[in-house]
Amino acid sequence: MSAPAIAPSVAPRALIRLDVGEPDFATPAHIVDAGVRALREGRTRYGAPEGIVPLRAALADRMRALGHAGATAERVVVAQGAKPLLGHVLRALLAPGDACLVPDPGYPGYRAAVELAGGVAVPYPATDAAGAFALDVEAIGRCLTSRTRVLVLNSPHNPTGGVATDAELDALARLATDHDLHVVSDEVYGAITYEGAAPRGIGTRAGMAGRTVTVDSFSKTWAMTGWRLGWALLPEPLVAPVRALLLGTTTCTPEFVQRAGLAALEGSPDVVRGMVAVYRSRRDAMVEALAAIPGVTVHAPAGAFYLFPRVPGADAARLRETYGVACTDGATYGARGAGHLRLSCAASMGELLEAVGRVAECVRGR
Ligand code: PLP
Repeated sequence: MSAPAIAPSVAPRALIRLDVGEPDFATPAHIVDAGVRALREGRTRYGAPEGIVPLRAALADRMRALGHAGATAERVVVAQGAKPLLGHVLRALLAPGDACLVPDPGYPGYRAAVELAGGVAVPYPATDAAGAFALDVEAIGRCLTSRTRVLVLNSPHNPTGGVATDAELDALARLATDHDLHVVSDEVYGAITYEGAAPRGIGTRAGMAGRTVTVDSFSKTWAMTGWRLGWALLPEPLVAPVRALLLGTTTCTPEFVQRAGLAALEGSPDVVRGMVAVYRSRRDAMVEALAAIPGVTVHAPAGAFYLFPRVPGADAARLRETYGVACTDGATYGARGAGHLRLSCAASMGELLEAVGRVAECVRGR
């Protein structure tokens, strides 16, 4: 009988999970307390599909502070996360066979949502030749056909961590206006940026309020992924259709969850700043360590909490099975992601540096 195959001289080691797209922080205590208090107050009944008024009013204030001058509570809808909102909005916007441009690489949920809505997802390039996030508006223009109705934009971007510039957003706004497109702007990582605040969203630009849906969430900003709470600022004509989809699917978002969200908005911004500072120090250490691996190309992300290095022979399955590092294969995010790995910074510094050491071993052991 032949001896079983032995993995290259790597002792079995505890798996390091860098594949998960959620903060490793606990939800801040004042937010948890508000949720528990709301439960004890008996806020456990059905409510309005679009959310409670105080939360929608606070979100409208937040959106106005971010430059959406016409944001009102009437145009804000609350749902169980950004993901269901993306689905509902695309169902409201797309007729069967309509095309929707989605970033490649990009969050896989977009394609799924477009297809569930009966649309056709058309990838557009979201990285330049060196693999850095870049909005090439001319290349996007070349993806348009007579069936294109919607473009999904994601900045800060998952998986590259790139943040669109003012000039790119202006150019994209002109393209959307010229071609009568709606833009679904996914800004769930908008509060997690490292080079100053992200430029104001595309929906704040001239002529864009009526054709932009801005989607955001409590998940990443306040470490609330499992609470399931997100919101969208909609053009007025979309409010009724999205409300009908909420009523026909989830009925409403639990009120105690919404009360926790209200506490998040009313709490000190230092809570979020503190988490971002930790992500920043992890990002810096990871970029330095990855850049030192021969053959690896890495761009320092300007936002979100992922690194998306180009790794020779990138193979997430081998990295997991042989070296004990779980991360996501770049191809998961689209054809242009191939050759990359997505590593989340939502783990302790010790785990992150150990993981990069194992990536180096994996590259050397190819
Ligand atoms: N959009 C992007 C770009 C994401 O990365 C994610 C989650 O990973 C979501 C939306 C979904 O967020 P939520 O938890 O609010 O549904």
